[in-house]
Amino acid sequence: MICLGIEGTAHTAGIGIVDDEGHVLANAIDMIGGESGGIHPREAANHHVKVIPELISKAMAEAKVGYGDIGLVAFSQGPGLGPCLRTAATAARALALSIDVPIMGVNHCVAHLEIGRKVAGCEDPALLYASGGNTQVIAYAGGKYRVFGETLDIGIGNMLDKFGREAGLGFPSGPKIEQLAKQGKRLVDLPYSVKGMDVAFSGILTAALQLKKKGTPMEDLCFSIQETCFSMLVEVTERAMAHVEKGEVLLGGGVVQNKRLQEMVRIMAEERGAKMFVPPSKLCIDNGAMIAWTGLLMYDSGTRMEVDNTEINQRFRTDEVEVTWR
Ligand code: AMP
Ligand code: MG
Repeated sequence: MICLGIEGTAHTAGIGIVDDEGHVLANAIDMIGGESGGIHPREAANHHVKVIPELISKAMAEAKVGYGDIGLVAFSQGPGLGPCLRTAATAARALALSIDVPIMGVNHCVAHLEIGRKVAGCEDPALLYASGGNTQVIAYAGGKYRVFGETLDIGIGNMLDKFGREAGLGFPSGPKIEQLAKQGKRLVDLPYSVKGMDVAFSGILTAALQLKKKGTPMEDLCFSIQETCFSMLVEVTERAMAHVEKGEVLLGGGVVQNKRLQEMVRIMAEERGAKMFVPPSKLCIDNGAMIAWTGLLMYDSGTRMEVDNTEINQRFRTDEVEVTWR
């Protein structure tokens, strides 16, 4: 069976086409631009309305499939921004009804983990999911995907982008901060905020902006932001791995493209005799292929949904998902 997956939780619209062996036949992505950064939910939704039809055609051409080949339509049901989620869900319902195939709503965070498990070749990892809007450590335990630690305020990518916007770096700022950090020499003190298994970033943002005003060089600030925030992530990831005894750590979300973060996680993993896995970039960021693949896992293991009960869920919790496929 071939599944077409529609991603639309935030700034990225994506159409992925995947077969039931997990081959990614197409993965077309379009992210709303805007040098100023920050997303307005309705503008992002309007962007998705505009690009989704083009992305569907593009993905189908790339995958060399016709409508008759698609056996399932999956979409990102949550968590995310309401207007964006509704756009993706509406597109999925229209497509599923018009080609008369089943529909499947997918949890976005679980999809990041499942595509990683499939393409990066790990079995039972703890996922460090670090993206614009989300920051969570997720692992499978007792029949469910559970959140072992998460941000108490904003996502780490959001923090990087907000700092970058104030500092005039443009959007997305993560890659620019990574480059500047390489020239950083001095570690300045920022509020390292780990509370139990959770992390918080807004204090670091405020402190970094104050230091910027006082003239701390951008290179040192970027370096210090990375070292501080990534250490926090590594600490809670390691604690989760120890707690649930996982020998694998998987990375997901746009921020994990950062090489320094990868290096820090790799060192932590090696020191505890564990292994790190990083999916290819286009499958780390928000994408439709991960939605399609997770939809297939759900369908194959007996989950069924009717169009009538495919409401979006802006606060769809990772541990609300009934994991029928493991
Ligand atoms: P996502 O929300 O998963 O699509 O990822 C987007 C986020 O990843 C944005 O906040 C970017 O600033 C961030 N990002 C992208 N590349 C990097 C990088 N090399 N280092 C840090 N953050 C990054
Ligand atoms: Mg994501």
